[in-house]
Amino acid sequence: MNKKIAIIGAGLSGLAAALELKKLGHQIKVFDQSVKVGGRVQSDHIDGYTLDRGFQVLLPSYEMAQHYFDYEDLKLSGFQPGAQIYNQSSQKFNIISDPLRDPSTLLVTVFNSVASLKDKYLILKLKLNTKNFEMKSLSNTTTYSGLKEFGFSDKFINGFLKPFFSGVFLEKELSLDFNFFKYLFSKFNSSQAVLPLGGMGALSEQMAKSLSQEELKLGIKVESFTQNSVQTQNAGEKFDHVICAMGQDQAQKVGGLKLKAESESAETYRPVVTSYFTTPSEKHSSKYLYLLPGHKVNHVACLTAVQKSYAPKGQVLYSVNSIESEARDPKEIIQSLVPVFGETEMKTWSHLKTYEIKKALPKNFLNQDKTLSQNGILYIGDYTQHPSIQGALESGYKCAQEIKK
Ligand SMILES: Cc1cc2nc3c(=O)[nH]c(=O)nc-3n(C[C@H](O)[C@H](O)[C@H](O)COP(=O)(O)OP(=O)(O)OC[C@H]3O[C@@H](n4cnc5c(N)ncnc54)[C@H](O)[C@@H]3O)c2cc1C
Repeated sequence: MNKKIAIIGAGLSGLAAALELKKLGHQIKVFDQSVKVGGRVQSDHIDGYTLDRGFQVLLPSYEMAQHYFDYEDLKLSGFQPGAQIYNQSSQKFNIISDPLRDPSTLLVTVFNSVASLKDKYLILKLKLNTKNFEMKSLSNTTTYSGLKEFGFSDKFINGFLKPFFSGVFLEKELSLDFNFFKYLFSKFNSSQAVLPLGGMGALSEQMAKSLSQEELKLGIKVESFTQNSVQTQNAGEKFDHVICAMGQDQAQKVGGLKLKAESESAETYRPVVTSYFTTPSEKHSSKYLYLLPGHKVNHVACLTAVQKSYAPKGQVLYSVNSIESEARDPKEIIQSLVPVFGETEMKTWSHLKTYEIKKALPKNFLNQDKTLSQNGILYIGDYTQHPSIQGALESGYKCAQEIKK
């Protein structure tokens, strides 16, 4: 029987549930307080620049991304696998690449100073061990402990794995669950990290295209809700089901969700600061991510090297990312990058905009088998699976499949 279903939140999880439920023939209405769809996946288009709201990439090997996105239409283009790692003492970059996928880098990769031969062997072993890894449960081991147990040297963990995955987890200790690491490692190994031509926001916009004006209600804040009703500022409405896709903090505050003690604390999210700089200089334009271990900037990405459309012709766009909000002031950032890219280069950089995202990724996540349900309300979102595009989409997909039953 077709049902009338409310979805509160038009982030990736809410959109995923909406599209799936619509496909199954249900009558849906999605509410979002913002005038734009996408929640944490949005881009701003300013003076010819595309600025994602926080540096973010898509891994096309995410199963749910393959289900929901039309890759051809998104015109994806990828970073080079691996990274350029800055060595503070030699003031030089080393390339860590994947020789199996990019044979041209074999020599630099084999002889660089970050990884020992044993580390390189272990990387290959981990690659084989995690091929098609499915995140069925949590390991209850931190990523750092898991990597140590696997046998990696401290030099390799601190010189590559930590700075690379700190940028993904948005925390420096690699304290997230080892199975989540294995899942992401497997996905990084089976596809490049990519950006859509229109910015990361194009992902959510593409999903929203399949929804009508009646189905997608933007700029409408939900004040309260029960399992069968939604109250906005102006109206109340009855539904057969209500799905809360508001993000963990709002689900707790507005939606009355109760979680275990560690997830209830005030600091439920990890922050990140992304600052955008532009320059006409092509000198450091590279498809490799720049990792800066021990620096207050975690990583620098040249976005126009991957997608030219991110800046007007003749301009190069960099995103400079600082986790734990250590680098905010644009002048200080430029100064701190002088030893890295050189004074002449840094003199050409101009600051465009800074995004300080206080609630970027949930610190804890549930990896729920079944959709989280309390008082008849269904709760979806990245925190119910794992903090990623895949996790958010999967939570929405699973919920729709369960309603189908
Ligand atoms: C800076 C950054 C970098 C990231 N990098 C990556 C990456 O590289 N790869 C990756 O896989 N993942 C990445 N992620 C994670 C990924 O973007 C998120 O996990 C995912 O977008 C979360 O989607 P969601 O639907 O769970 O929540 P959200 O996107 O937070 O959606 C919640 C929605 O609910 C709405 N809402 C809240 N309260 C109300 C209310 N009262 N009434 C109506 N609407 C309401 C909000 O406006 C919002 O649109 C990153 C996230 C950030 C922020």
